[in-house]
Amino acid sequence: MSDLPILIAGGGIGGLSAALALARKGRRVRVLEKAVEFGEIGYGIQMGPNASRMLERLGLLKTLEPHAVFPDALILVDALDNRELTRIGLGKKFLERYQYRYFVIHRRDLHGAILDACRQRGEITLEASRGLTGFEQRGASVIVRCENGAEYEGAALIGADGLWSPTRAAIVGDGMPRVAGHVTYRGVVPTDEIIDRSHLDSMTIWVGPDVHLVQYRLRGGAVMNNVATVSSRRFRRGETDFGGPDELDEVFSRVAPRVRDMLRYISRDRSWVLHDREPVTNWTAGRATLLGDAAHPTLQYLAQGANMAIEDAVVLAEKVAAAGDDFNRAFLAYQGERMNRTARVVLSSRFFGAYFHVDAGTRELRNELARRRDPDHPWEIDWLYRGIDVDGRL
Ligand SMILES: Cc1cc2nc3c(=O)[nH]c(=O)nc-3n(C[C@H](O)[C@H](O)[C@H](O)COP(=O)(O)OP(=O)(O)OC[C@H]3O[C@@H](n4cnc5c(N)ncnc54)[C@H](O)[C@@H]3O)c2cc1C
Repeated sequence: MSDLPILIAGGGIGGLSAALALARKGRRVRVLEKAVEFGEIGYGIQMGPNASRMLERLGLLKTLEPHAVFPDALILVDALDNRELTRIGLGKKFLERYQYRYFVIHRRDLHGAILDACRQRGEITLEASRGLTGFEQRGASVIVRCENGAEYEGAALIGADGLWSPTRAAIVGDGMPRVAGHVTYRGVVPTDEIIDRSHLDSMTIWVGPDVHLVQYRLRGGAVMNNVATVSSRRFRRGETDFGGPDELDEVFSRVAPRVRDMLRYISRDRSWVLHDREPVTNWTAGRATLLGDAAHPTLQYLAQGANMAIEDAVVLAEKVAAAGDDFNRAFLAYQGERMNRTARVVLSSRFFGAYFHVDAGTRELRNELARRRDPDHPWEIDWLYRGIDVDGRL
């Protein structure tokens, strides 16, 4: 086995999960993070049973449980009349079906737990303020160059450097990510401030024309995470200035007053312009590969981007362990296993965004289809929640 460490560019949820998974297979890893410190933003994230299965393999599930909130259902509500359309129960039947629970968690608690686990492993070196600017492959090694001029030699390179990944630019070269024309605002407030308390125990999505709002509690239920997303008409008209707070207000002016009221929980100081990419058929070159958003960035409508990054990490480590120092073989096997599943998430997420945001003309059809669903059989996402078969147990 090569003495050189595996280099990972990016210390987000994906990069750190990969570091931990590889270390657990006995590999030395060096994580190079661009930011001045390792961290995450202060909002919530949803973890499906497919991710829980992987987090258990990484030895993290028990550590995360005290920080997690386990909603009783995923509920879809029509934002125009505030009526429930359908739900997926997350209780006993869900657990029997998928073997793992669905949970929501503060991003800092999730990222912090993975970071702590990495810090406890002697195989892992973590370095902040090390933005990758380029790399080259030389024989049996990869040389990575960083913004501060530092150079690192590794046995292989994993680009887990997110949506704007320079590693992807070098390997795939498919330009900028696709602007979806959707803009997200977030807000976390004390649960005491929530006026309509009818959905406190669930993960609830209000859907309306060009808009949806997600709500779930975090940190033992003490705070409520709120996420409002607008599908911008201005963007569709070709305007470059779109998705500002004025458009957020305009779109919410069309929904039921009780839903519109929830805008008070949303912070207007910061917004996220959403992107994804067309799936590709290769994201590996020699001893370099991609993982997480760098490989397959997706819209958040299935809440699966980080779930996919965690799955990637586990599969990647399995393939590296099986291939010895033949990193190209390991990386091709890894991407071969991940490509269709992650592409399906990207394309299905687009579909779910459109399904949430339908206009008045299609609303009745969507609502009828939603009402006819069996709450105990989430067939639309069964393939996703069943998870992946890493060791032939499924
Ligand atoms: C509104 C919204 C809601 C979401 N909700 C969910 C959800 O509920 N569930 C879910 O699973 N997913 C969700 N996602 C998606 C999820 O946030 C991402 O898919 C996930 O964070 C990707 O992790 P990553 O580690 O691949 O990339 P990132 O989190 O982007 O991490 C990349 C890291 O690389 C670093 N970096 C960047 N450039 C360089 C460089 N040149 N060199 C070194 N380091 C570099 C960055 O600083 C960062 O630390 C959501 C996304 C959005 C926008």
